[in-house]
Amino acid sequence: MDMPTFFSEAPPKAIILTIGDELLIGETIDTNAAWIAQQLYEAGIEVLHKLSVGDRREAIWQALQEEFFRADLLIMTGGLGPTSDDVTKKVLCEFFHTHLILHEPTLQHVASLLQQRGQEMLERNRAQALVPEGCTVLPNARGTAPGLWFERSEHICIALPGVPHEMRGLITEQVIPRLQEKWPSLQAIQHRYVITYGQGESKVAERLRSFEDNLPGNIRLAYLPGNGLLKLRLTCLHAKHIQMLDDLHQQLISLLADIVVGTENLPYEQLIARKLLERKAKLALAESCTGGYLAHLFTSHPGSSAYFTGSLVCYDPQVKVEWLGVPAGWITNPGVVSEPVARAMAEAIRQKLHADYALAITGWLGPDGGTPEAPVGTVWIAAAHQRQTISRRHQLRGDRQRNLQLSATHALHLLDELIRQIC
Ligand code: AMP
Ligand code: MG
Repeated sequence: MDMPTFFSEAPPKAIILTIGDELLIGETIDTNAAWIAQQLYEAGIEVLHKLSVGDRREAIWQALQEEFFRADLLIMTGGLGPTSDDVTKKVLCEFFHTHLILHEPTLQHVASLLQQRGQEMLERNRAQALVPEGCTVLPNARGTAPGLWFERSEHICIALPGVPHEMRGLITEQVIPRLQEKWPSLQAIQHRYVITYGQGESKVAERLRSFEDNLPGNIRLAYLPGNGLLKLRLTCLHAKHIQMLDDLHQQLISLLADIVVGTENLPYEQLIARKLLERKAKLALAESCTGGYLAHLFTSHPGSSAYFTGSLVCYDPQVKVEWLGVPAGWITNPGVVSEPVARAMAEAIRQKLHADYALAITGWLGPDGGTPEAPVGTVWIAAAHQRQTISRRHQLRGDRQRNLQLSATHALHLLDELIRQIC
């Protein structure tokens, strides 16, 4: 994230301060700071550093004292709630030499939120409508604590509630648009993506050696491996270079044509969902070792009912026999984790759930299980269509969680392969 080296005008600088005792003891993972950093980066604002402090007046005061004038923008989250541990507002009043006043629109908003939830208005809820005089109030549609925006001698301080979905709504709907208005020269960062499968980053980097050597200085290439896929990201910081970015994107796609599975920054299951939708095709799953994880991936995205029929979690071998007609003898020979079983599962579920395509998976994700023929880490995957069934074996070497994610990616890829073969 070495933005300044290729940013012709120095971008505005920001510091992120997250507040909460729960962050310091690791009870809550500080996802707010990571998410805000991403949004600021995308908007063309450079984050200098992030820090966290507990819900103590002195700690917040000291952080404000040290950080506020060091950057153009200080964004803080947490401590704006209605409970006694939330002290941020008081410290902000002290720091900006102001005091709390009642903000009538916030009071009305709090009253209507509580009414919708069927809750009575307590004194501490009323206190949510008290805001430091002189700050700009950022309405929080998702909760009772509004965001607070302070400005002093060209420095901005924004305090937001800690609840992640409230904070995110405020950043997207209030903070970023206001910052863009305030700093019209902000350059939103442009990205283009290529998602690949089947080759590690070293191998891909070898293939891209001359492409990288010839990259212009204002365009960056990043390698982002994860879950069995490799994401390549091309970035430029100026709108005037977009044509060049698009040309390089096309070049990258053709250079890696044999391993490209997507050209947008979308999860693999969404790339496949699109192909199914384009073909008006339905998908069914029979999941043994993934225990419904593939179904979860597909149904995590809105609109899945248009192509997803269902998944049978056939974890116990007996379920494979009774529900999918896998011959009982196959469970021991060739074994429950074997090619014939995976293929039989895929073909049966496709017919049972009246789908065009089916995907089935059976494997030992570890740490227990396995047989001499199919040791721990063996996964058999089959993808079926009326015209053809294809299957593949993978030998995984991670822990259970990693094996789960990898086998899901391999399964998605096999389905992708079949869809491409059928057309
Ligand atoms: P608060 O606004 O301080 O009352 O925070 C409300 C809740 O939001 C906390 O109990 C946490 O569960 C969550 N939260 C606060 N700060 C963070 C953070 N930095 N990252 C993720 N969750 C947070
Ligand atoms: Mg808190």
